[in-house]
Amino acid sequence: MNPTAFVTGGSRGIGLAIAEKLCKQGYDIAINGVRGEESVQEVLADLQSLGTNVIYCQGDIGSDEDRKRIVDKLKTEFGRLNVLVNNAGVAPKKRLDPLKASTESFDRLIRINLKGPYFLTQAIASWMVDQKKDVSDFEGSIINIGSISATVVSPDRGDYCISKAGLAMHNLVWAVRLAEYNIPVYEVRPGVIRTDMTSAVTEKYDKLIAEGLTIQPRWGTPDDVAKAVLALVRGDFPYSSGEVIMVDGGLTINRL
Ligand code: NDP
Repeated sequence: MNPTAFVTGGSRGIGLAIAEKLCKQGYDIAINGVRGEESVQEVLADLQSLGTNVIYCQGDIGSDEDRKRIVDKLKTEFGRLNVLVNNAGVAPKKRLDPLKASTESFDRLIRINLKGPYFLTQAIASWMVDQKKDVSDFEGSIINIGSISATVVSPDRGDYCISKAGLAMHNLVWAVRLAEYNIPVYEVRPGVIRTDMTSAVTEKYDKLIAEGLTIQPRWGTPDDVAKAVLALVRGDFPYSSGEVIMVDGGLTINRL
């Protein structure tokens, strides 16, 4: 029987790269996104061509109802789950000076980037604990895709930074809570990664990277992040629960 993983926001970008890596590693995979299943047929077919079972769990991770429906589907279709990757996240629709920022944007970012992963983890961690009791050799892990924005301030997207700072604490809370069950929890913290999320600010980051923003002078790729996730999932960091793995090309190294 293949091990199984659920990657939220696995339909494109970083999440899709993670799903591909896990499929190649022999995992049955569930990916998620907000678009209808008809829009992700090609993505599903590409992943399925790698040889394992791949399903789609449509739903807004920030909605209580959708999360319940997604977990029910995972239980029905897979009946077991080894890995949860909390990857889905959104940027603010508009970057705004915090002196003028809206409560709507704040609520949206906290709901999708923080409340969603927290309560999805609650549901799936409870299920993992049950599996741990029922299956003697069960191995589970939880990976949170955070952001350098947990510590690097962008005032014009304060809501995003605050949501990712909260996610960093979420990572620690679950690492502590699940330690007695030997279910490690990690945060992978990317820097500037080339995806749809950053496509609107390509020029800005091209310039900053050329000027030395990162010590490795290039954009990060979804594959850079997926490689770190794979190392964690396959158990290469067995004594490091709660840790943050930086995938930022050295952006956060203080320099003088
Ligand atoms: P993309 O915008 O490229 O992809 C976002 C993915 O999340 C899509 O699969 C999308 O689904 C899904 N999604 C969006 N909203 C929801 C929701 N409410 N419920 C469920 N799924 C949702 O993002 P990235 O790949 O760039 O980012 C992935 C993660 O990495 C995010 O958490 C982001 O904050 C983080 N990150 C990204 C960085 C970057 O530079 N790109 C840097 C640091 C962190 P659909 O296809 O249906 O729209």
